Amino acid sequence: MPERTDRIARAVVALDGVDALVITNLLNVRYLTGYTGSNGIVVLSAARAVLITDFRYQEAVQPLRLLLDIEILDRDIAGLTFERLIDLAPGCVRVGFESSMAYGLVERLRGLCPAGVELVAVDGVVEQLRRVKSDTEIAATRHACDILEVVYSNIAQGRLVGRSEADVAWEIERTIREAGFPALSFEPIVAAGANGALPHADPGETVIRLGDLVTIDIGAQGSSGYTSDCTRTFAAGGPPDSAAAEDYALVLSAQLAGLGAVRPGAIGGVVDATAREVIDAAGCGTLFGHGLGHGTGLDVHEAPTLRKGSDDVLEPGMLVTVEPGIYRPGQWGIRIEDQVVVTEAGHELLTGFTKELVETAG
Ligand code: ZN
Ligand code: ZN
Repeated sequence: MPERTDRIARAVVALDGVDALVITNLLNVRYLTGYTGSNGIVVLSAARAVLITDFRYQEAVQPLRLLLDIEILDRDIAGLTFERLIDLAPGCVRVGFESSMAYGLVERLRGLCPAGVELVAVDGVVEQLRRVKSDTEIAATRHACDILEVVYSNIAQGRLVGRSEADVAWEIERTIREAGFPALSFEPIVAAGANGALPHADPGETVIRLGDLVTIDIGAQGSSGYTSDCTRTFAAGGPPDSAAAEDYALVLSAQLAGLGAVRPGAIGGVVDATAREVIDAAGCGTLFGHGLGHGTGLDVHEAPTLRKGSDDVLEPGMLVTVEPGIYRPGQWGIRIEDQVVVTEAGHELLTGFTKELVETAG
């Protein structure tokens, strides 16, 4: 069975307590159908699977007729979908909408629903299916990871000192796009010296100095939508301060401990704790203020999560990142992030670039 036909079939089976589901989250629409436009809704029920979009996408969606019915409606496809639920989900009384839908929109749509239809908020039906990846999805992710190794090798062999963070970020973006990737998973993070202490710093005009630690967090998104995500921290032009080098060694040992805990059956919160304990034991617990990792897929941050309190259970085929960090305000930041696939035997790294601290030539 073609992969997307199977996804639609599995989503219908997963409907629990509702007769139909209106899917408005565009990543979920893309996952089920391959539709990549900006205005699409899927209505799923045992009776019918329909993609609703507008005139602009009329031609592009024709091949999707092999998977499901297509309806071309006027621009306000959400309003028209809910007005026409009797046709789009025949015989359905309890109709679910995704709980991510904005409250104001839900209120408006309630007013448009045909009499006798009851609207119910439903959580995570398609997101649940998206957690475990197929071989095709893993291969697409691998492809998006490979280019990051090229980027890091270029950085390792090139020069950082004297360049601005923004200049390095632009070179990274250009390399990824010139390799044929239509998008990045997110804007590259290039954070030098004290800026590294801000985990999501925007690259700016700060000029990288000799001995700075430079945290570089990057991701590529392939044409099928699958994202990569990796972080390495480089030493610009020579060895860093010895205290910074000690922090680096600590983050690396926490990262390896976290990776070692990634296997089928492992619980997200426990994997997080395994890495966190290493940093806590060194008295640096307060300097690691974010979760250990996250799932990746069509969205660069999706289920499962590896963080305090997460009861997500890892299964073969899940893609997760492992990314502990230490952030010393006013001094430096260090993060080391790998993306892995959970396998029957444990996990496999998708990012092969060295995790030893690389000192650039200049
Ligand atoms: Zn990242
Ligand atoms: Zn990440």
